[in-house]
Amino acid sequence: HLPTAELQALDAAHHLHPFTKGDELNEKGARVITGAKGVWLRDSEGTEILDGMAGLWCVNIGYGREELAEVAARQMKELPYYNTFFQTTHVPALMLAKKLAELAPGDLNHVFFANGGSDANDTNIRLVRTYWAEKGQPERDVIISRWNAYHGSTIGGTSLGGMKGMHGQGSLPIPGIEFIDQPHWWAEGGDMTPEEFGLERARQLEEKIKEVGPEKVAAFIGEPIQGAGGVVVPPSTYWPEIQRICKKYDILLIADEVICGFGRTGNWFGSQTLGIEPDIMTVAKGLSSGYAPIGASIISDKVAKVLDGTEFNHGYTYSGHPVACAVALENLRILEEDGVIKHVQNVAAPHLKEKWEALADHPLVGEAKIVGMMASIALTPDKATRAEFATDAGTVGYICRERCFANNVIMRHVGDRMIISPPLTITPEEIDILIERARKSLDECLEQIRS
Ligand code: PLP
Repeated sequence: HLPTAELQALDAAHHLHPFTKGDELNEKGARVITGAKGVWLRDSEGTEILDGMAGLWCVNIGYGREELAEVAARQMKELPYYNTFFQTTHVPALMLAKKLAELAPGDLNHVFFANGGSDANDTNIRLVRTYWAEKGQPERDVIISRWNAYHGSTIGGTSLGGMKGMHGQGSLPIPGIEFIDQPHWWAEGGDMTPEEFGLERARQLEEKIKEVGPEKVAAFIGEPIQGAGGVVVPPSTYWPEIQRICKKYDILLIADEVICGFGRTGNWFGSQTLGIEPDIMTVAKGLSSGYAPIGASIISDKVAKVLDGTEFNHGYTYSGHPVACAVALENLRILEEDGVIKHVQNVAAPHLKEKWEALADHPLVGEAKIVGMMASIALTPDKATRAEFATDAGTVGYICRERCFANNVIMRHVGDRMIISPPLTITPEEIDILIERARKSLDECLEQIRS
């Protein structure tokens, strides 16, 4: 390929990057990724980088699994495309739907396919509103979400998300979306214990339902563990109380499993790890380990039964794309039969937990949180008071992320919180390298902010 500088110049001239300031690209040039194997990315200079984020939390089985390439090629030759609108179907879509129904907890037995997580959440907005309309309660159209949540970048996904910076671009949210505060004890818990705080935050749901009017509330949506919000692990009291309130007011519970699904938290789904019984789950990312774009809403018998009598006027050209479905099926086979989920449970997650939590002894690190293979650390100038830095929020996190990048490990920052979600296949030796590079980056970050 062309020399790196030329690739970077072309990129800066023509390619608009998501969530990126254009001038940053012009100044520094993007790092050009040219290949990957296992947990290792390779850039155009031949440098190997340990991917502590599995791409965007998605490459659960690691890079370079040839089985998926072979399945995709076979499917492209056999049936590259057909739709599942009206009364046609095809084997990859129906087999994947069957497999997801088997894996999903409870009576989540019905699958509506999308292209990714955002448009699966758009589906959910229309689905829950249609459900209540079909039950003769069309005024039940309000969906309650949480500030700082991320549920995608489409109009619907952005509206369900609680990121104010995103709402500001595009006059969002759409009507009928309400928000409560997130269960982020480190940042917002004040003098409360995590358990007290978890209850307080969950009870905001009940207050919001009363404020809006129970007869108007359709659903509550939340990730079991907020990912892009900063790997916010809720206190143990939080989800049982949310579940109780949803049951009490007969409100549908949507678990957004786009990050938490497919082994990330140590079980197939985050709902299982956190003891949640959703009516609908959103899945994407790890469903195909990012090898093909695909998402889905997995729906309970209760919801599907009501929709049975109606035509749900919704669907995407690529809903249940045969190649994406075939790739996802092979990915699920690898997660299951090749023992990736078992590797997480028995090897990777315990090792990562031990090493990650030990980072809490670093002078810059307040709390170190981890569930399965998603983890965060809070950067702070004062652990005892959980203080924030005097600089703008995110300044220190950004420095730390840049140090990680320079040390050839990918970690992400959310404000002044550093997060990871490596491929689930990572070995103990690779975890040690990740931690060693993270610690070195923290040291360099500390030095930089002190100087
Ligand atoms: N929901 C959650 C929890 C996510 O983290 C994401 C993406 O990061 C989405 C939805 C959107 O998924 P996609 O980017 O596939 O549209």
